[in-house]
Amino acid sequence: LTILGIETSCDETAAAVLRYEDGRATLLSDVIRTQLAEHAPYLGVVPEIAARAHAELADLTVAAAMNTAGLSYADLDGVAATAGPGLIGGVLVGLMTGKAIAQAAGKPFIPVNHLEGHALSPRLGTDCPFPYILLLVSGGHCQFLEVRGLGDYRRLGSTIDDAAGEAFDKVAKLLGLGFPGGPAVERMAAAGNPKAHDFPRPLLNRPGLEMSFAGLKTAVARAAENARSDNEKADICASFQAAICDVLSARARRALEKFDAGTDEKRFVVAGGVASNKAIRAALEAEAEAGGARLIAPPLRHCTDNAAMIALAGAEHLASGRETGEGLASGARPRWPLDEASAKADPVFG
Ligand code: ATP
Ligand code: MG
Ligand code: FE
Repeated sequence: LTILGIETSCDETAAAVLRYEDGRATLLSDVIRTQLAEHAPYLGVVPEIAARAHAELADLTVAAAMNTAGLSYADLDGVAATAGPGLIGGVLVGLMTGKAIAQAAGKPFIPVNHLEGHALSPRLGTDCPFPYILLLVSGGHCQFLEVRGLGDYRRLGSTIDDAAGEAFDKVAKLLGLGFPGGPAVERMAAAGNPKAHDFPRPLLNRPGLEMSFAGLKTAVARAAENARSDNEKADICASFQAAICDVLSARARRALEKFDAGTDEKRFVVAGGVASNKAIRAALEAEAEAGGARLIAPPLRHCTDNAAMIALAGAEHLASGRETGEGLASGARPRWPLDEASAKADPVFG
């Protein structure tokens, strides 16, 4: 199968062409155009600006992906695009672009849940069979899921307030480090003392797999009021990052204890933008090892938003032969939980 994937749910306009044979994925192209410069002055993603930028960039990005792959639309077996969750204006642009290409070329259209893209992203390159425990940590989500098979996801526990990536972005904003926050905080943290501040690790003694980062953010805000020098800011970043590492590690430990798939190898996957943080990867690596599991994390490029993971999700669904939605009739969904049980009630646009 050869699939074109399109991603426009946040501030990356992305398109990729993927070949999928015998369960193995080969990327023929993987184009990511970030809108960072457009949003940077506002210290966050502005939905209206994002939608306009996607509208300007979508067909150019798709053309670049097709050119690099050296293919025409007739060579494709299907077109996949993110149908949600995300900023609705951007989602609509990608969805309509994908549908138009599919319809014009007479190919199947596969609407993809962006979170499923993140969930399957380790399967792009690495050997990562089902089932596995997944920690999905991104700008909008922070949750543990049991990935039992394609389309078979069970949520084990989530953040009850902010997502971890959101916390990174807010801390960066508080310290004047710009946007996006994650990479800036990580860079700053490298020079700081992680023990300088004793920031809270909320809910750690509570059973279950819920997480909370709002209190941590408030504590950082208080410390940030007195931070002037780069050294002081570095200490705050390092201490904040250490708190996030501790929370995710402790929850990962519990998830690994609770989860027994009955397979020879226990697999623990971390995916989403925050999974590109090296300190977090290292902490989870140690936790996985202690829990007798193999940690699998996508390469940095496929942690943050990309279209390769959307193409892969589309290819896997097409290959499975199962119905994945309504094809050309499918609408855009601003909210769309990965576990279908809670997904039914959410609104659909388009
Ligand atoms: P979602 O996938 O939940 O809809 P999103 O698509 O906006 O949200 P991603 O693109 O997966 O999220 O990830 C972006 C987030 O990852 C941002 O919050 C960003 O700050 C964070 N992030 C990126 N790199 C790093 C890093 N090195 N350390 C920590 N956080 C990071
Ligand atoms: Mg982004
Ligand atoms: Fe994402």
